[in-house]
Amino acid sequence: MQQAINDAFLNRISAVQKKFPSYQVNGILFSNISNIRYLSGFTGSDGVLVLSSDTAWLLVDGRYTTQAAAEVQPISVVQYQNKIQGIEQTVKELGLTKIGFEASFVSMEMYNDLTRSLKKAKLVPLGDELRLLRAYKDKHEIAVMKKAAAIASAAVATALACEIQPGWTEQEMALQLEMTARRAGAEQIAFETIIASGENAALPHAQPTNRKIRNGDFVVIDFGVKYQGYCSDETCTFAIGELTVDQKNAYRAVLQAHDEAIASIKAGIAAADVDALVRRVLGKKYSRYFVHGTGHGVGLEVHEAPRLAPNSQDVLNAGMVVTVEPGLYYPGRWGIRIEDTVFVKENSCEIITKMKKDTIIE
Ligand code: ZN
Ligand code: ZN
Repeated sequence: MQQAINDAFLNRISAVQKKFPSYQVNGILFSNISNIRYLSGFTGSDGVLVLSSDTAWLLVDGRYTTQAAAEVQPISVVQYQNKIQGIEQTVKELGLTKIGFEASFVSMEMYNDLTRSLKKAKLVPLGDELRLLRAYKDKHEIAVMKKAAAIASAAVATALACEIQPGWTEQEMALQLEMTARRAGAEQIAFETIIASGENAALPHAQPTNRKIRNGDFVVIDFGVKYQGYCSDETCTFAIGELTVDQKNAYRAVLQAHDEAIASIKAGIAAADVDALVRRVLGKKYSRYFVHGTGHGVGLEVHEAPRLAPNSQDVLNAGMVVTVEPGLYYPGRWGIRIEDTVFVKENSCEIITKMKKDTIIE
């Protein structure tokens, strides 16, 4: 088992190394910790992974030497006292002269430091080249993501059964949800839990407040956990008491947009087309209240490539895991969002989040 996992990391590294000629580099410095984890298995929070065309060195400070040596066995671990000096030394020893770096991640300060210390080497910014690095999930990643989704969905189901009733505050519900998920094996939450009731639900990224849930509220619960480093992401909207006709119609419209978008997803579809379909199904009446993109990739980070949005150039392909999350937001009144995470297959997609979304309007 451990050997298979080590092989998976080495395969990922060798896939990147094979692209060196097209990137016009003979080495890459990775400092985005999610990319480092993806390529090496290192779960610490700081370090640098240096790839040459035939080897990989993980550079860490003294806090992580023991942990790194245990986690990344086929890869050499080097301890540094000063990160820039550690990189300089490694670049020299590996003979790197054209070094790629993650353009959207390296700070101006680090770039300046690197330029000063790596005088003879050329630094090559890599942006689009690395954007889809983690987008295709293998069997192990899919299994882990399904487990994360199952833990989070079960916690929401428990909340639905006993906590979502008038009198509870959003904060109390968030605490309960997070405790239930932790008890069921979640390592941590994948992002700040959103529990938004009544007019707060009109804020797509609301934070839980001490507002008490009342009759007539929509309650939007956007919740995800991490399991073995991988995130889940799912949103349910619940109704407290009776809904108005307007609310019911709006919920039906969002559900239909969500269902049709998921039915359309298969290998080869443009991400922008899925987004356009959602807006078409919502129609003139509703689409102007849909104020964000339709979805995003999920993996070691809760938001990663590809992006499902009007101006996205991404194409969905088998192996990608993305969310579909249409919503409507009526400022000062109420909001709705329905989100599932799906695994893209050759001719369809599989929903990996577990909560049913059609029960609210039965
Ligand atoms: Zn979400
Ligand atoms: Zn999401």
